[in-house]
Amino acid sequence: MARWHIQEPARFEGQELDNEKWLLEAYYQRARIESPVGGPLNPLLVEYADDGSGVVRFECLVSSLRYWVRIPKATRTERTAVREQRGRGFDPTCPRCRPADRLVRSGGVLVCPHCGVRFGRP
Ligand SMILES: [Zn+2]
Repeated sequence: MARWHIQEPARFEGQELDNEKWLLEAYYQRARIESPVGGPLNPLLVEYADDGSGVVRFECLVSSLRYWVRIPKATRTERTAVREQRGRGFDPTCPRCRPADRLVRSGGVLVCPHCGVRFGRP
């Protein structure tokens, strides 16, 4: 089947999934997420957005269609929890993801490598 070259970037970007609570919770807990067309979604890439939110890109293992979802930025309570962990001398972990990921430094801020959310400065 012939394809127009111009369609390629859009196909790579994929389709945005609504960041409904069940989807986010499943992702935080590393549960299997079903693609809208059926088949498991495989996380490909986690991106850190400038506003502190995260973007996770998926590929459906059955259809190879790409999807992405925006992960809401940290709440005040979550940022406080991270500050308290650091105050007690711990390397802070993500208050959302289970099991929790240790936060990593990226561009002068602390981010979760699983959900892409920013939780403050190192
Ligand atoms: Zn996280």
